[in-house]
Amino acid sequence: MKSHLAENLNAINRRIEQAALRAGRTPGEVKLVAVSKTHPAATLREAIAAGATILGENKVQEAEGKIIEIGRTAAEWHLIGHLQSNKARKAVQLFDVIHSVDSLELAQRLERICIEEGRGELSVLIHVDVAGEETKSGIRESGLGELAEFLRGCKCLKFNGLMILPPFFDDPEMTRRFFRRLRDIRDRIIPSGELSMGMSHDFEVAIEEGATIVRVGTAIFGERGS
Ligand SMILES: *Cc1c(COP(=O)(O)O)cnc(C)c1O
Repeated sequence: MKSHLAENLNAINRRIEQAALRAGRTPGEVKLVAVSKTHPAATLREAIAAGATILGENKVQEAEGKIIEIGRTAAEWHLIGHLQSNKARKAVQLFDVIHSVDSLELAQRLERICIEEGRGELSVLIHVDVAGEETKSGIRESGLGELAEFLRGCKCLKFNGLMILPPFFDDPEMTRRFFRRLRDIRDRIIPSGELSMGMSHDFEVAIEEGATIVRVGTAIFGERGS
């Protein structure tokens, strides 16, 4: 069966561009993370060949094999899923950007490991739980100031912005207020920082609300887990 990956990737890039222009923004301001979780290394290679430069994975364990196979420098590797503290060292070794820093303890551990591993700089985003959902990962707004303060003082960790994983709504318009809220927080805490927000079904709304990084999986790679 012929893969539509290259076509899908081109279509998404066009939609990103159009959404940016609609919002009066420069298309180059929005980076695409191609979320390749659950897909095999061969598919990731295909994505890279088709022009994907940033790949997103949500599990350290799963990503490890693929990153080793494809090459640490073959793409920019982003960890977008919750990071357990016992996977922090692996994450430091494997990833260029971690979107999911969500506690002071995790940040402290990552900084210590970066120093131990002699790693120059590690770009991190704080995952903010804007919806205040009990079961989800992400830090509540109340804890954000302290975490941001710690990150600003780090030698290795470079605090580059915020990430959100809002509740799912069929209608992407419903997500707009969460994106807006994250942007307001960003403007307050780290005005020139990245806003990692928007997935397959709502990235255009996210771009209208200021996203600088969108994380798109299904719309590029097709449905997962079949
Ligand atoms: C899976 C995932 C995505 C991509 O989701 P799609 O709906 O497939 O585009 C984005 N962000 C995170 C954190 C994810 O886990």
